[in-house]
Amino acid sequence: MNLKDELCQLRSKHVTFSGRYVKNQRGIAQKQKPCDNCSGKGCRICNFHGISEFDSVEGLISKFLFEKLGGTIAKFTWIGGEDKSSLVLGSGRPFFVKIQNPLKRNLRLNRIKLDSLEINNLKIAHESPKKPVKFISLIEVKISTEFTVDAKNLKKLKDLKKQSIVVYDKSGKRSEKKVFSVTYKKNSNNSFIMKLKAEGGLPIKRFVTGDDVSPGLSQILDTQCMCQEFDFLDIEVQ
Ligand SMILES: [Zn+2]
Repeated sequence: MNLKDELCQLRSKHVTFSGRYVKNQRGIAQKQKPCDNCSGKGCRICNFHGISEFDSVEGLISKFLFEKLGGTIAKFTWIGGEDKSSLVLGSGRPFFVKIQNPLKRNLRLNRIKLDSLEINNLKIAHESPKKPVKFISLIEVKISTEFTVDAKNLKKLKDLKKQSIVVYDKSGKRSEKKVFSVTYKKNSNNSFIMKLKAEGGLPIKRFVTGDDVSPGLSQILDTQCMCQEFDFLDIEVQ
């Protein structure tokens, strides 16, 4: 190691990793609530981590990395998100995590189990992405409907591929999401399962009810639809 490299190392106050997580069990939130005392800035009470509990995806990965590397704050960049009750299967959801002030910097793992979470392909990344990362999600959604839906009605779901889904966020900003494939299976007169391959970031629950998302499933099927559960079968980065 020459002197220049050594100085570089000393000046660098963080290290960034990329990886994917697989969630095989329902009931784990993606994000951890910040420390009550400091709102996430880091204080004595939370040991300067900014979080004081470790029961989410964020918490479990942070705890593991703090044990391995030391460090204060772990800052995550997620490639999409899911509900607490959602599973994340297949190759898992990609994430980036920047660890501030690590004591050690080297860690590379093919696979590790943390409770009911599995972390794959954890390795040092150059830095967290600055621009939004484009990705495609394969999602399975359980839907219940107010009125009976028949085969003819459900067939209309195939039209989702022909048009973009228009999504408005809370501030009224408009975006469009593409649907690449749709399959479905009727469970009962008032419920069906839909498998959807769609552009990442489509808000699934709002897409089902049709809440500031057009067309929503309620609109397409002409009956109020409710999302009972949704799972990610795979996530593909473009
Ligand atoms: Zn704190």
